[in-house]
Amino acid sequence: MHHFNYKNDVLHCEDVPIPEIAAAVGTPFYCYSAATLRRHFQVFDGAFSLPHLTCFAVKACSNIAILRLFARLGGGMDIVSGGELYRALAAGVPAERIVYSGVGKTRRELHEALEAGILQFNVESAQELETLAQEARALGVRAPVALRVNPNVDPKTHAYISTGLAKNKFGIPEEEALELYRRAAEMEHIRVQGVSCHIGSQLTQLSPFVEALDKMVAFVERLRQAGINVSWLDLGGGLGITYDQEEPPPPADYAEALARGLAGLDCRLILEPGRVIVGNAGILVCSTLYTKRGGKHFIIVDAAMNDLARPSLYDAFHCVQAVKGPERRRVRADLVGPICETGDFLARDQDLPDLAPGELVAVMSAGAYGFSMASNYNSRPRAAEVLVDGARFAVIRKRETYEDLVRGETIPDFLAQS
Ligand SMILES: *Cc1c(COP(=O)(O)O)cnc(C)c1O
Repeated sequence: MHHFNYKNDVLHCEDVPIPEIAAAVGTPFYCYSAATLRRHFQVFDGAFSLPHLTCFAVKACSNIAILRLFARLGGGMDIVSGGELYRALAAGVPAERIVYSGVGKTRRELHEALEAGILQFNVESAQELETLAQEARALGVRAPVALRVNPNVDPKTHAYISTGLAKNKFGIPEEEALELYRRAAEMEHIRVQGVSCHIGSQLTQLSPFVEALDKMVAFVERLRQAGINVSWLDLGGGLGITYDQEEPPPPADYAEALARGLAGLDCRLILEPGRVIVGNAGILVCSTLYTKRGGKHFIIVDAAMNDLARPSLYDAFHCVQAVKGPERRRVRADLVGPICETGDFLARDQDLPDLAPGELVAVMSAGAYGFSMASNYNSRPRAAEVLVDGARFAVIRKRETYEDLVRGETIPDFLAQS
């Protein structure tokens, strides 16, 4: 479900025609629908009747306006860096609704999160636990901790976004985790409060979630037998969306499957959805520059892999639509950007609308891991981000300028003389 629809053959986001935004802000730009974001958050959050906190995975879509929108709906945040902590706090998210995951939290980042007073650190190694305890001691506080357990479950998704297999860098194997919990429980500046896991992203089946849940529930029971009581169970994110033909389970089925596995456990849940909330709530709009029809057909647009990395990085599929006149001849072609890499494509060997130079194009389902993965490669200023709400729209991130590109760069004295 999303609010990107054609009215009189012109693509709209809610009540705003996409060409109107393009005329005001130029291309390329990301366009998000506030109604879609709200609905997705509420459907997901509302699917759980157990006590829980829905912590949006900031890395999926990090703009502070969007974080604020979720915070206003009662959402927390799942962060993976000091920069994301800064964003969440800047967006007005209460610290007691923030959980912090990731294998490589620096001492400084741990310190900042302790100072902010976040809800939970999902600790991924014995060394990290030790560093966290030292920083907590220095601040005279107790750090609220869950260990991230690696349940060794195959999420059946792309290898780069599988995180819950023993061969992945994430989490701690169960046996080791049990030992580490014993140690953590003895540490003066650590407060053991939960268990966490996150097995991967873009999952389209329930079975891996259920398999991981069963292992986590058994693990919580083992902990309790060892006299370590935990009250939070963080099950991570990972629920997939439809980009093409995928048929992921709806949030209601996901919630029901989890509730069944959790019956009688007496833990509050933390959920960390990212993609399922924002993926289909955002599109990337660009302009056609040129077409090449010698042998293979190429449509060259003003957005590129630096704007949307997913096709190049994961060979991911995005549906491509003409902003005006959706019913038209289709051609087998590649949609490519101006970057000097053969891997620079937004769609490859796809049946695309037969676009002419100057026409606007929408790359659909680009709300998750779109702008948040954008770079300045080829010295391309990053695109603008626009949020639509009903008949209104606002630029929530200005298009970068050439000055932005060289900000922070200096020519040292020894090169300054000619
Ligand atoms: C990336 C990530 C998520 C969100 O994953 P989605 O597939 O976008 O739902 C949640 N938790 C952790 C720890 C992550 O690294």
